[in-house]
Amino acid sequence: MMKPMSFDDLKGKVCVITGGAGVLGSAMVKAMASVGIKIAIADINKEVADKVAGEIAAETGTQVIGVAANVLDKESLEQAKAIINEQLGEIDILVNGAGGNSPQATTKVEQMQEKDIDNLADTFYGLQMEGFDKVFALNFKGTVLPTMVFTQDMLKLKKGVVLNISSMNSYKPLTKIPAYSAAKSSVNNFTEWLAVHLAKVGIRVNAIAPGFFITHQNRFLVMDEKTGNYSPRGQKIVDNTPMGKFGEPEDLQGATLFLLSDISSFITGIVIPVDGGYSAFGGV
Ligand code: NAD
Repeated sequence: MMKPMSFDDLKGKVCVITGGAGVLGSAMVKAMASVGIKIAIADINKEVADKVAGEIAAETGTQVIGVAANVLDKESLEQAKAIINEQLGEIDILVNGAGGNSPQATTKVEQMQEKDIDNLADTFYGLQMEGFDKVFALNFKGTVLPTMVFTQDMLKLKKGVVLNISSMNSYKPLTKIPAYSAAKSSVNNFTEWLAVHLAKVGIRVNAIAPGFFITHQNRFLVMDEKTGNYSPRGQKIVDNTPMGKFGEPEDLQGATLFLLSDISSFITGIVIPVDGGYSAFGGV
């Protein structure tokens, strides 16, 4: 008789999650710890990584550690890998969670009107390339580089899983955030490319595309700080999400464990939207 399906294959596996101290990342860490995955939270903010790791370790009884790492600096990633190998063992799973947008790569207006021709600062033409480059690099190079470093043990083990974090912007760009949109689109393309490249050496590569969740990186866009209500943009998001709400970080947990576990052993190169129906809705 068939055994009941479970995530037991994940017990004792070692995972690195970049950006794991963040709002969405820490919900994913909780899910992974709940099935016995040993986790290294590799984050540029070591203090918060340690704090989140300590809390989740105490709550679940699983080994969770914080490690300092900058996803844009190969040397720092290699140093982090050495620490993880020493403290947790060889790495089976990589979750590329670091990412985000910045006000410096955000246009003030959604669509240009004729009147804006005399005030280009608020439009695409006013974007500073420094901010644009930073956001593009964090989301794209910040997925590529950690993958280069943290999947090396998987080559030896001839088995492993990479999970990238994409976004709704990868399918259709949202207004105002061109660098973030282009980078997340590139993450989808890279997910497919790498899945093909690594398919014969036992490493699966997939992504999840979260819909809309209120976090540090987008609060300034979706909430009206003065009133505490949604901004017009926040309201537009809710109106365009068939389930009529923002997601809760916990909503990502099921898709995460599904893609990490052998339950999805024949799945590679896909992006799963976790979006309350947003990507399925034409707006009318
Ligand atoms: P967050 O800002 O709460 O967390 C991001 C984490 O990444 C932070 O802990 C931060 O310290 C870390 N980080 C930033 N730069 C880093 C670097 N150079 N090296 C290492 N760590 C670094 O963000 P979040 O909302 O939890 O986002 C997590 C992922 O989900 C991101 O890739 C984001 O683009 C994506 N995402 C978020 C939403 C949303 O609605 N919040 C939607 C779709 C996708």
